[in-house]
Amino acid sequence: MTGQPRQAERASVFDVETVRRDFPILHQTVHGKPLIYLDNAATTQKPRAVIDAVANYYARDNSNVHRGLHELSARATEAYEDGRRTMQRFLNAASAREIVFVRGTTEAINLVAGTWGRRNVGPGDEILITAMEHHSNIVPWQLLCEEKEAHLRVAPIDDAGALRLDVLESMIGPRTRMISLVHQSNSLGTINPVAEVVAMAHARGVPVLLDGAQAAAHGPIDVQALGCDFYALSGHKMYGPTGIGVLYGKLAHLEAMPPYQGGGEMISSVTFEKTTYNKVPHKFEAGTPDIGGVVGLAAAVKYVDALGRDACSAHEDELLQHATERLSRIDGLTLVGTAVPKASVVSFVLEGIHPHDIGTILDQDGIAIRAGHHCTQPLMDRLGLPATARASFAVYNTHDEIDALAAGIERVAAVLS
Ligand code: PMP
Repeated sequence: MTGQPRQAERASVFDVETVRRDFPILHQTVHGKPLIYLDNAATTQKPRAVIDAVANYYARDNSNVHRGLHELSARATEAYEDGRRTMQRFLNAASAREIVFVRGTTEAINLVAGTWGRRNVGPGDEILITAMEHHSNIVPWQLLCEEKEAHLRVAPIDDAGALRLDVLESMIGPRTRMISLVHQSNSLGTINPVAEVVAMAHARGVPVLLDGAQAAAHGPIDVQALGCDFYALSGHKMYGPTGIGVLYGKLAHLEAMPPYQGGGEMISSVTFEKTTYNKVPHKFEAGTPDIGGVVGLAAAVKYVDALGRDACSAHEDELLQHATERLSRIDGLTLVGTAVPKASVVSFVLEGIHPHDIGTILDQDGIAIRAGHHCTQPLMDRLGLPATARASFAVYNTHDEIDALAAGIERVAAVLS
């Protein structure tokens, strides 16, 4: 997510025009203009390698996993478990058993709040989050706190959108049961000092969950180096399919946690009197899983690995730098979120113009951005804004697209102000 290789190095390893050819959806016009897709923090587009992997799975190997004795079932099981090993490598988890497949980040956090939380949080206990969390890292903990008469506490940020680490540290107390925070903010781009947070938390015996929905797209992620207890990610934000994601959990936690949902696959034996549960991670994967989704997610990880993760990060860092410089020059435009380090997101407001109007007018130019609260309403309240406009970048975006965005914003300003 960081690092700036010199121009020559970058040119030798990364050719954005070649990358763009891998993404069929980019080659279309919208409202008669070439599509410029800058809504990557919401979801990324999918390379041909992912589309083909999913199509081939359904065309050749589709079956249910872990059940049948027949060839197709063996292939489906192998593809699914190979996907688990791919995600283990991507996250540098100590064991493939620490990889639980879920629908996405939202389900991963709900799983931890609903199982680990129910078991370990009681009246008067505290869950500590930050002011820049996505709703999916707020509401599951609120539900838990309501049920258990526990308290949700919120570590503040500064005006640039950086976490107040000193204040967060002072808020870790004897009743803190969990710290759950975003690795990279979807609204501001801020990359949090998560390894420091983990060290502070562990020094006081408190586990940490990291919401990696955004950060995983700009990986690699090393959960062992970070030391976190749980890590949540969504496949669709890292060039994989929708409906599939990962909860990483340290084996000792996963072993100790009660099941999440009951059903097939998660059991060892069932009688009407008593059910015993399957081993981790299957204990948390009730029912037929999204096998095609896992195949696509693994293909996405392998695709970005083949491009070179450092080269991708360097390209995205350069886009961010270019966008920051170019947009800063626009009269009446204020960047929202200028913390260091940050990645791949430029949020902004234009004086006197509602962000939704910016988004709607840019859409007429074929430029897709996001406008709204980005599922971070408390953050918008903290910043005193109803909404922002947000452009977010991926491996296939170009300098020219950013120049087109800037020109489009200038036209919006000229027409509406
Ligand atoms: N956390 C962050 C930081 C996000 O950006 C998102 C998606 N916008 C989520 C959590 C939720 O992810 P999903 O909708 O894929 O479950």
